[in-house]
Amino acid sequence: MIFKRIDRVKQVGYKQIWELQNGRVDKSQFVCQLCCDKEIIVSKVNGKFTAEDCKCRQEKEIKAKKEQEQKRYEQNIKSAEIREEFKGKTFADFKSLAGKREAKLAAMDYVENFDIYEKKGIGLTLVGKCGRGKTLLSHIIGQEIIKKGYTAINIVAKEFYEDIKVTYNNSNKNTSDLVTSAKLVDLLIIDNLNAERFGADEIDKLFIIINYRIENKKPTVINSTGDLDYLNKRLALDHVSKLIGKNGEPIKVGGIDMRAKQGELITDLRNKNISGLKRRLEDSY
Ligand SMILES: [Zn+2]
Repeated sequence: MIFKRIDRVKQVGYKQIWELQNGRVDKSQFVCQLCCDKEIIVSKVNGKFTAEDCKCRQEKEIKAKKEQEQKRYEQNIKSAEIREEFKGKTFADFKSLAGKREAKLAAMDYVENFDIYEKKGIGLTLVGKCGRGKTLLSHIIGQEIIKKGYTAINIVAKEFYEDIKVTYNNSNKNTSDLVTSAKLVDLLIIDNLNAERFGADEIDKLFIIINYRIENKKPTVINSTGDLDYLNKRLALDHVSKLIGKNGEPIKVGGIDMRAKQGELITDLRNKNISGLKRRLEDSY
């Protein structure tokens, strides 16, 4: 008796959804036009309504799971916190000036085709002098990849290594959480892999993670201020050849020094303000 009643209530609910899904309503108002955001798809067979899960339900669950993972990685890796100056930046913020265009295109392609690159574990290596925009570009990549529903972590190599050291001396913090997160995240971005400032232990620690990721087809984006020759000299040959084997030839981010440019703009602004101030002072005498 009670089952019958439940069934009847269910049938009424299904009927409404069926009418919505098979009616003439404007579907463009729904995020999922297959189920009109009901997360089930109702069919009518011999006057009886049956329902099955819409694929958007599964997609939502995956998305929620990825968001949780992302939070966990960010908690585990303190140095992954995005600095204020890079938050919310998009490719529109990276001016493709002379010497930077190729790198911008490579980064845009990387984001656009990440589904393919990710499956094969292909990353990207960006090289170039300080201030050319490697860090900005890689932060944009990271944030765009997260928007696509993946997890991504951006670490400054030196700070990350310091984090690992702190966890060795602090029993409250778990080194394995930190290292595991860096191994498992969908995209790991290592900023400033600047071997000049690294000791052997630091490089070894980083390459334990990089090697794990290469072997498990997990992509890594690497930034370095040294070019290929420099990396060849500073890192073990095996490391460099593995990186090239996985990321292809390093891509150069060249052109003007964006920090120097920023500095010039600040100087211009200040000079303009000061000359205005001078005029006002002269007027008042
Ligand atoms: Zn749906």
